[in-house]
Amino acid sequence: MRLVILGGGESGVGTAILGKKKGYDVFVSDFGKIKGNYKEVLIINEIAWEEDKHTEDLILNADVVMKSPGIPDKSPIVKKLLAKEIPVLSEIEFAAPFTDATIIGITGSNGKTTTTMLTHHLLKSAGLNVGLGGNIGKSFAWQVADNKFDSYVLELSSFQLDGIINFKPHIAIITNISPDHLDRYDYKYENYIDSKFRITMNQTEDDYLIYDADDEAITEWFKTHTTKAKLIPFSLTKTFSEGAYIKNNKMEISINQEEFTMDTAHIALEGKHNMKNAMAATSVAKLMQIRKATIRESLSNFQGVEHRLEKVLKIQNVQYINDSKATNVNATFFALDSMSTPTVWIVGGVDKGNDYNELMSLVREKVKAIICLGVDNKKIIDVFGNVVDMMIEVSNMNDAVRMAQRLSEKGDTVLLSPACASFDLFENYEDRGNQFKQAVKNL
Ligand code: ADP
Repeated sequence: MRLVILGGGESGVGTAILGKKKGYDVFVSDFGKIKGNYKEVLIINEIAWEEDKHTEDLILNADVVMKSPGIPDKSPIVKKLLAKEIPVLSEIEFAAPFTDATIIGITGSNGKTTTTMLTHHLLKSAGLNVGLGGNIGKSFAWQVADNKFDSYVLELSSFQLDGIINFKPHIAIITNISPDHLDRYDYKYENYIDSKFRITMNQTEDDYLIYDADDEAITEWFKTHTTKAKLIPFSLTKTFSEGAYIKNNKMEISINQEEFTMDTAHIALEGKHNMKNAMAATSVAKLMQIRKATIRESLSNFQGVEHRLEKVLKIQNVQYINDSKATNVNATFFALDSMSTPTVWIVGGVDKGNDYNELMSLVREKVKAIICLGVDNKKIIDVFGNVVDMMIEVSNMNDAVRMAQRLSEKGDTVLLSPACASFDLFENYEDRGNQFKQAVKNL
């Protein structure tokens, strides 16, 4: 069997290792450059590869193809493969049949990484032999090849779900759905929603789907579709006999006739969105029969993930918060919502069709000054120009942070939550967040 892998990154090289181990004739082809450390791995393992090109003669003779999630279906080589009816899979589809481990799959528009890390933390703290993979960390296929874990918590993007046929997680989470990446879905929101729900399409009556019951796109989907999985909803406003909710500042979870209660004040993560993430992760922990005391301890000591509402420093009683990962309006909505002091808000970058009006009432209530940090800030200025007293434009992070210091007073918060992608002024959101933190430290 010939396995061709398009893309020589983490998931590509991981799949190559697994394929080789399972006896496939493996070939890795990357249209760009393959990083040195990955090349070494391919060479040591005697796996054939090429870079800077796709040689059709070596690709179109595949029995099966694994495509990295970054390569769109529209790319010429993928079109040719599909025209020849050669199966084009994602890494999780290829790798899952080679493991008996219990799989927990987490998707959604926002909150995937936070919920994945928290779920992994809960299970690992309880002593389970659990791996972490998908969009984060080490390739899932690579870990399957090393045969290390009894269970895996996987962060799954819609692109990975597009490449599945039989893959099914025993426990699935959909954190929420809001428009994103529509360029890859023919600009049709319903296609993107359907893609997220692929996470449950192969689930059976023995599996579970945990989902945000406050989310409009999700509740609408259920009106016209079904899944065989057992449903575990979570909500900030509704209550359930089977599910998770917040009532009187307590997180209540009821699953399989068992109850779990915890004061939200003892949960280390902050903000309403993080209460949702905590409900989702704790539901998994309950399904995996983790002891209550262990769950409580893990929820109270999980400090969150870098660049997601990350507290940086307090300087002259002004709290600086790095939420650089907020690359859409929905993420910024929850960041502003969780502010409890007057806020100087740093926003802007490359916007993927944002409707800033969704933030209007929060901005009126909480934001005293706006610092626009983008190449083109016109939309932000048009929407909020008459709403806040102070609004200025800057073109680098040092100026943004210095201006924020000048505009803030004791007791305020300075929040970087851009609602936009970063590539107009920065390499990526990590670079943007790191520059923010450095600029704050330099104050
Ligand atoms: P993802 O991996 O889906 O991008 P992250 O956990 O990295 O999600 O969070 C991305 C951004 O969304 C951050 O700004 C974070 O504060 C915010 N966020 C996290 N969880 C949620 C949620 N449940 N709903 C909305 N926004 C969220």
